[in-house]
Amino acid sequence: MSFQKLQVSAPILDALQKKGYNQPTPIQEQAIPAILTGRDVLASAQTGTGKTAAFAIPLLQRLSEAKPSNGIRGLILTPTRELAIQIADNLTLYGTNLRLSSVLVYGGVSQVHQVRQLRRGADVVIATPGRLLDLINQRIIQLSDLQILVLDEADRMLDMGFINDVRKVLSLVPRECQRIFLSATVPAEIQSLVTSMLRTPITIKV
Ligand code: AMP
Repeated sequence: MSFQKLQVSAPILDALQKKGYNQPTPIQEQAIPAILTGRDVLASAQTGTGKTAAFAIPLLQRLSEAKPSNGIRGLILTPTRELAIQIADNLTLYGTNLRLSSVLVYGGVSQVHQVRQLRRGADVVIATPGRLLDLINQRIIQLSDLQILVLDEADRMLDMGFINDVRKVLSLVPRECQRIFLSATVPAEIQSLVTSMLRTPITIKV
């Protein structure tokens, strides 16, 4: 299997080649075409399986091919600052030939710099839930233009006590937005979130 066979676009193929990714991992083989259909997706995958690229590549591709807007079009929710930074680094790598901007939003630091970046405009925001809600409440972030939402490490969100923040964010996402959930395991509370928030998702397990 090759990334080309998965219908990955030329600018991203070029970036992957330069990064030395010759072959998609099993989760990428399943998730990339699933996400490219535009349908909701639930993927159970552990860290280390290439799951970040599995959602980052099709997210970048869909946004680069859709019409631009002034608002945030992609949102990736993740439980920790470290993961947020890793995801942002991945987006920069795979999106090096695309004209999409991303902004990191996490707590524990002053919001001044993040707000300044957001005011310049962001296609994609990578966020931890608490700071994201703060910025939404201050009307600095709006989700009305959102086209793709990724919930990364959903089970860890639950373990870390972020599930109510996550529910609140999900309640603000436009109806037609594509939703992608990743979780190593799917405990009952995550399953109930899936049932209430995803529309007949494509389910992937590796
Ligand atoms: P992740 O599961 O997203 O934390 O990714 C684990 C590691 O695998 C990261 O260091 C990625 O850069 C790397 N990786 C992801 N996909 C591929 C691929 N198709 N080929 C080679 N390395 C990859």
